[in-house]
Amino acid sequence: MTSTIHRNASPAATPASALICRNCGADYPLGAQHACLACFGPLEIGYDAGRLGSVTRQDIEAGPHSIWRYAGLLPAGQDPATRVDSGTGMTPLIRADRLADRLGFTAPLWVKDDSANPTHSFKDRVVSVAITAARELGFRRIACASTGNLANSVAAHAARIGMESIVFVPSDLEPAKITQTAVYGGTLVAVEGSYDDVNRLCSELAETDEFESTAFVNVNVRPYYAEGSKTLGYEVAEQLGWRLPQQVVAPMASGSLLTKVHKAFKELAGIGLVESRDYRMYGAQSAGCSPIATAFEHGLDTVVPVKPTGIAKSLNIGNPADGPYALDAVRGTGGAMAHVDDEEIRAGIELLARTTGVFAETAGGVTVAVCKKLLESGRLDPSRETVLYNTGDGLKTLDAIAGRVAPTAVIAPTLKGMRAAGLL
Ligand SMILES: *Cc1c(COP(=O)(O)O)cnc(C)c1O
Ligand SMILES: [Zn+2]
Repeated sequence: MTSTIHRNASPAATPASALICRNCGADYPLGAQHACLACFGPLEIGYDAGRLGSVTRQDIEAGPHSIWRYAGLLPAGQDPATRVDSGTGMTPLIRADRLADRLGFTAPLWVKDDSANPTHSFKDRVVSVAITAARELGFRRIACASTGNLANSVAAHAARIGMESIVFVPSDLEPAKITQTAVYGGTLVAVEGSYDDVNRLCSELAETDEFESTAFVNVNVRPYYAEGSKTLGYEVAEQLGWRLPQQVVAPMASGSLLTKVHKAFKELAGIGLVESRDYRMYGAQSAGCSPIATAFEHGLDTVVPVKPTGIAKSLNIGNPADGPYALDAVRGTGGAMAHVDDEEIRAGIELLARTTGVFAETAGGVTVAVCKKLLESGRLDPSRETVLYNTGDGLKTLDAIAGRVAPTAVIAPTLKGMRAAGLL
């Protein structure tokens, strides 16, 4: 579990200072390690408060138009020469007035549209940071266990810098996600099993000698990978004119994204880049895989694993590693969680498309539908400024709504044809 490969200590390099166990607080030197040797708890990047605090709005605004403008707040990529900049980040924050009207918001509602990333999902953020860290740590190959979007992004980033890649996915993935991974030319292994089976296999592989110089983005370099999601929080704050929203709704698979947006908001307030403000975190899952939302509803601290089903495949992690931390973030901020079924997800995709012009994949449908449900049950406040995270592109999951939408009419190329269809 501990790799012999360690970062070169270079004083001005990184604001990261250690790997810290989220369970017992033990700390370890920076490197490719993801679990605590004392309690097996997950490790997280800890920062030097002074270095973080020296970052200014001006530094950030003068940086590249990508997540790397926040390099001073990230654990890798301070040196532009090792940084893998695929143009990820600075995706549109869309003021969604028509959606706000439909849902009954009186305060501004925003959609952070991460389908605009290079491989069309938010995963480009975590992969850009993970592959940069992997390169800095001396790894020669990059790998992952994926529910689809991660596979797309790892294969693409590896192709861009000419690094070898090996990607593992469940064999029943959406065809678009298989094709969009295979096209980049790395090794793609379709495993006959669920994501959780694939993940277990990757954890075993990461321990073998043959994989010693392979960085599994969501296994041995997971602490670095996870920090990439913080940029979803930084960008929203910057795009709002350096302030925090009052409510955010985020989809949950492992629960990492949600916890890191929360971490980003706390950091920004902590170092004075934004004024601190009460905000609430809301978590969204599908009924086919809702271990975290179910624990929330039952008031439990532990997450009971499930066997995932349903159309929101990118969120189908039955045994979510960051579930307990997502519960803490949501409970600690006074938010809530909910889950929605496949019909509600499809309706959520349509509602978003028809009111904002954003075509989301199923995960985006989950977020919109959960927002609606939480409003209806009175747990989300329509008078508080709210951000919805759309994390992926609808073109990746066309099958999910193919049966619901179709041409209004098929006509002969004549006025008569128009009349026959009742359109003239
Ligand atoms: C991976 C993924 C998420 C959430 O991931 P976490 O494991 O919770 O960080 C959300 N949306 C999409 C589209 C994803 O691919
Ligand atoms: Zn520990």
